[in-house]
Amino acid sequence: MLLDSRTTTYLHRAVTALTAGRLNGEQLSPVCPDCDTDVTQLPGFIFGHLLWRDAERETVTVLVGCEGYWTINPHLLDVNATNWRPRTAAHDTTRIGARDAEQ
Ligand SMILES: [Zn+2]
Repeated sequence: MLLDSRTTTYLHRAVTALTAGRLNGEQLSPVCPDCDTDVTQLPGFIFGHLLWRDAERETVTVLVGCEGYWTINPHLLDVNATNWRPRTAAHDTTRIGARDAEQ
């Protein structure tokens, strides 16, 4: 996965907020919205996903899906991403979100 500067900023702020315990709720999930895989159910290294592991709470959160979707609302992190859309249960909308997050 290629990281651009905006994704790096998103990741930095997301990890900072997660470490501080400022984020919670349904956006924090071990399920990749791009491929619908629960990454905790896969052994070993998970290619193509950017994950955050909370050793204290023993949880894993997908930060960027395997197709580039930003799982955490960038507006909560003061990252400019006007085309970002919340994911829904439907796959087609998450794929739109993945492309938009890269613009
Ligand atoms: Zn995936």
